Amino acid sequence: MRGLRRIIIPSRLEATVPLWIDAVRALVDQYGAASSALAADYYDAERVAARVTGSFTVPLVEPPPEEQVDNSLRWATKDLWPRAPEDPKSTEAQRQPMDIRLQQAEKKAEAVAQKLVTDQGRGTIQEAVRRDRQAVGWARTAALGACAFCKMLVTRRAVYTQESARFQSHDGCHCGAVPVFKGQTFELSDHAREWERIYREFAAPHSGDQLRRFRLALAEHGHLPAH
Ligand SMILES: [Zn+2]
Repeated sequence: MRGLRRIIIPSRLEATVPLWIDAVRALVDQYGAASSALAADYYDAERVAARVTGSFTVPLVEPPPEEQVDNSLRWATKDLWPRAPEDPKSTEAQRQPMDIRLQQAEKKAEAVAQKLVTDQGRGTIQEAVRRDRQAVGWARTAALGACAFCKMLVTRRAVYTQESARFQSHDGCHCGAVPVFKGQTFELSDHAREWERIYREFAAPHSGDQLRRFRLALAEHGHLPAH
């Protein structure tokens, strides 16, 4: 993503932003396929570890529609376009110098690309669970640096069994979906059990203010979110 940044030439946005979008789309397709392949390997390994019998081939998922990728990238770069400061529609970000706007757009675009890529891996797990008769559902896991919102979802220990259940991810989210097979119960990791303890003690009793309390308590206990 950083290497592609130089495709955007500030004095020629109209001509160069579409070229950049094409290049990022190719990158998302390439790494998305890798994310999907890694997820399939991971699914196979989890199946073996759970001693599931019978063969199963993890289906490959399609990359996101071109339009979805384009819309996300146009959103990430929207503040690059000039607007007169007196225009009521001009945003705070648009009043910044061009190099700052480029930096902000790059940061947003990286997070967008990361989501588009990892969603393909997460989608592969969900699709495999849907089709594998030995799977009962999937659960969420969060990395150590995950945000308070994602950690809160993990502590709910939910196993999603409905076909319609979708993985709710945000830009820059590194959370994963783990398959749960027949005869297995979903267990939280040691770290997630600690988040659960913090949630119950400091957040759960405060209805209406739980996420904010949880975020503060995580920070106070050294579980600082990375985003
Ligand atoms: Zn997350």
